[in-house]
Amino acid sequence: MSAYIPVELQRQIRSHFADCCAYCRTAESLTVTMFEFEHIVPLARGGETIFENLCLACPSCNRYKAVRQTETDPTTQTEVPLFHPQQQSWVDHFEWNEEAIGIIGLTPTGRATVDALKMNRPQLLRVRRLWVKMGEHPPTF
Ligand SMILES: [Zn+2]
Repeated sequence: MSAYIPVELQRQIRSHFADCCAYCRTAESLTVTMFEFEHIVPLARGGETIFENLCLACPSCNRYKAVRQTETDPTTQTEVPLFHPQQQSWVDHFEWNEEAIGIIGLTPTGRATVDALKMNRPQLLRVRRLWVKMGEHPPTF
């Protein structure tokens, strides 16, 4: 399901997330895809088309997240809420590994989100390795 998002609201969201995916932090400028406006609480679950419920997401994170709001934390095997980019801080839930290629979940929500959105899929690790060599990764915001 999609909704009309006013141009000014799109601009505010892009600015807030620095034109990067709110989940995997990929910079849109490094890709050949158009990033998408994701409803954090899905429209289908009553989420609204307002700043507080929208984030910028790469097409992969957006597809994998879909209408999910929870996932199982692989460590504790408990169902936990997925990361909420507007209410939570990325650095509280995730960090880059030593090479800045893999994302480590620091909390149950972080680990569950890394799994659910496949934020360390092999293709992404490969391309992040190239971006590190190019001096374009990880993002500094
Ligand atoms: Zn992403």
